[in-house]
Amino acid sequence: MSHVRVRFAPSPTGFFHIGSARTALFNWLYARHTGGTFVLRIEDTDKARNTEEALRVLIDGMRWLGLDWDEGPEVGGDYGPYFQSERQPVYDEYLQKLKDAGRTYEKDGAIWFKLEGERYTTYDDFKKAEVEKVKTEPVVIEDAVRGRVERREEMDFVIVRRDGSPVFHFVNVVDDIAMGITHVIRGEDHLSNTSKHVELFKAFGVEPPVFAHIPLILKESGPGKMSKRDKGALIEDYESRGFLAAAVRNYICLLGWNPKDDREKMDIGEIIELFDFPGINKGNSRFDEKKLSALNAEYLREMNIESFTFLARPILAAAGVVSEEESEDYLQAVLGLCQPKVKGLDDLPEFVGYFFKDEYPMDEKTGERIAKKADPKALLAEVVPVLEGVESFDADGLHVALETHAEAQGQKVFAYFPALRYAVSGQGGGPDLLPMLAVMGRDRVLGRIRRFIEAS
Ligand code: GLU
Repeated sequence: MSHVRVRFAPSPTGFFHIGSARTALFNWLYARHTGGTFVLRIEDTDKARNTEEALRVLIDGMRWLGLDWDEGPEVGGDYGPYFQSERQPVYDEYLQKLKDAGRTYEKDGAIWFKLEGERYTTYDDFKKAEVEKVKTEPVVIEDAVRGRVERREEMDFVIVRRDGSPVFHFVNVVDDIAMGITHVIRGEDHLSNTSKHVELFKAFGVEPPVFAHIPLILKESGPGKMSKRDKGALIEDYESRGFLAAAVRNYICLLGWNPKDDREKMDIGEIIELFDFPGINKGNSRFDEKKLSALNAEYLREMNIESFTFLARPILAAAGVVSEEESEDYLQAVLGLCQPKVKGLDDLPEFVGYFFKDEYPMDEKTGERIAKKADPKALLAEVVPVLEGVESFDADGLHVALETHAEAQGQKVFAYFPALRYAVSGQGGGPDLLPMLAVMGRDRVLGRIRRFIEAS
């Protein structure tokens, strides 16, 4: 096992944002790529927002995406506890170290961290010093994604509030030290905190970890990053929208990383092999629902029919399209026709409705278009005896029988297809016609055609 130890350190908020998921994923990929350890640490110091439920959303989302952690909640580990709310003794111990080193002082009831060298201790002083603001040495960060970044901390900052609660910068750094974290991979929004963090690492006499700040995910259109209200922002919504976890995960890998060729659909094992910091983009990436859907459709088409049916049944049941008793054989046969045609599982209820109900809406425009060419009822009346007589009611048998009939009439076999499809489905498009008739079966097909002919 390598020495690499990375962590995903979310503050549970009640939803699992795609930006957080991407941070988790990149940490996980880096750990798996290097043979290192992936730690899940819950930064739950904000008590009001951190409920059991909020944690659940996060953990379920991570598990759904297949991001397993080696240390953390539910799995334990040697560096626990993994909840910041349970780590007060560790913070007390580290605070004492800073006190002993003379790097703290108390002011207005809070505990402040004292920067080195000449620095400002009050915001007023800092504001007043208009001419020569800069007194401290700049902090240099060799960011693994951004390259060299210099930032200057000019003012002491609070590390323990008046109410005794430790501040984010302090606990974040203490835990990274105590947990032996070697690489901090996190969103670019934290770059502005990093100089404070480096000052703290230095004060503890600890070499800072390697930082890798990953760029933002912009919303689909317009300026600004994905907000939780944007479609596609929340991981917990994807499952009910019928997305496959493997496709979503593959897509998120591409939000800010690429294999340096045009490939998009990639096996996760291969991504693990290729994933490294140089492949992470410096620029922001933009969320693209179309690309995600296309990727999802590719994954759907490749599934075996048993798995596809397993995923589709609850979606069709929830939409009221199939009943609990619907036979697996018929369902599987229907889905076998549709699997190559649909973009997402959420398209299915509309796509397959007529297979399961004899009452289905008739698309009027299609009806009018068909009637312009020839009288559909007359065509179908010709076809009824053919369908009654055909020996094997499968695609090949139907093709031969219909073709023979058409030739005898001096017609092309396709002349009958639009009316046939319209009568049995009410639509102008759908799966290939003859396999579809075969799946529906002779009785259902003839019943529908007869009803169509008899309808006024
Ligand atoms: N709790 C912080 C967050 O959710 C963690 C930042 C970090 O990764 O250091 O943004």
